Amino acid sequence: MPYDTEGPRFDGRFSDGQTAAAHNVRVAFHERGLVILRDGEEQLIWPYGALATAEPLSTHAVDALVSYRYQPGASLFVPSGGFARRLAELAPHLTTSAARRRAATPWLWAAAGVVVIGIAISAMQLSPARTIASMMPDNVRNALGERTIRAMTEGRKVCETPAGLRAVDTLSHRLTGAVPTGNRFQITVVDWGLVNAFATPGNRIVLTRGLIAKAGGPDEVAGVLAHEMGHGIELHPETGIVRSIGLAAAVELMLGGGGTVGNLGAMLLQLSYSRQAEREADERALDMLRGAGISANGIADFFRRIEGLSAGSNEGDGGGGVTGMLSTHPATADRLRRIAAAPRYPSTPALSPADWQAMKTMCGTPAGE
Ligand SMILES: [Zn+2]
Repeated sequence: MPYDTEGPRFDGRFSDGQTAAAHNVRVAFHERGLVILRDGEEQLIWPYGALATAEPLSTHAVDALVSYRYQPGASLFVPSGGFARRLAELAPHLTTSAARRRAATPWLWAAAGVVVIGIAISAMQLSPARTIASMMPDNVRNALGERTIRAMTEGRKVCETPAGLRAVDTLSHRLTGAVPTGNRFQITVVDWGLVNAFATPGNRIVLTRGLIAKAGGPDEVAGVLAHEMGHGIELHPETGIVRSIGLAAAVELMLGGGGTVGNLGAMLLQLSYSRQAEREADERALDMLRGAGISANGIADFFRRIEGLSAGSNEGDGGGGVTGMLSTHPATADRLRRIAAAPRYPSTPALSPADWQAMKTMCGTPAGE
């Protein structure tokens, strides 16, 4: 249904995010939203409330790069100061003053609200660290995640054969596509003999070569990955950091906008999760595995396998050990029982044989070594 638009029209470049090309479009303001007029294609309307801009709109803006929450990846660039000013009037949340208010929000919460939060927390049995973690802006979560990944991969090779990356991607999308939480994860495989997997802030996960090598099949890797994703969805890594550095330092961190995160990577390596966190991550994992039609046995099989390995070895936890995974994710009998008790459903292997092979060899080291 075409929208009637009056008033000026602006020239812009539109990319739908699906194909690489950008197209010339005309853009107009309608009371319901921005109308994008495309040659030979239907009009788009982007309601003002769901718009975002790359930079907050100031009165001196000479252009605007606009995105729309419900069309991820699509972007609209309009090189016109007049357009930017009119957009700022119709969508005031995009302006610099709105951005300043937003930046101040965590600070206000922390400064003025600590007492209130404290009372609410004790009344509602909420964890203060969890509450602060949930207020952490995305740029801080991402900066923390990047720092952590850098610390973990320092001096180690990141495994990135094209076929291996495709296999990891396939598995990751199969899992996240199965649940409506909308999280998307960035997964890094590291050439590291340690058997472990880590979720970091900002929806990032590290898997080690050692873990893939010790897994008995793709379902076991899928189970571990789903469990780590569960930690990520529940904001356990963020919560762990807030808990470790303290609430005041966490607020400072958030004020610094991620520029002052310091070296927290090593700290995350030491974090171990509570039983409750493990249970929450398992529940998320079981949901994902069921939605994706991947057997839930993999996760229990994997923990049993590394438990057996650690019982039968005299090695310490020196780099190549298998006990790292067990110390950061305690595999209590209770957990294994709950996983075993989950209802059965039809399942298919988590990866094709070719993709599994690609994942096992993506560090350039023969599998099973
Ligand atoms: Zn865990």
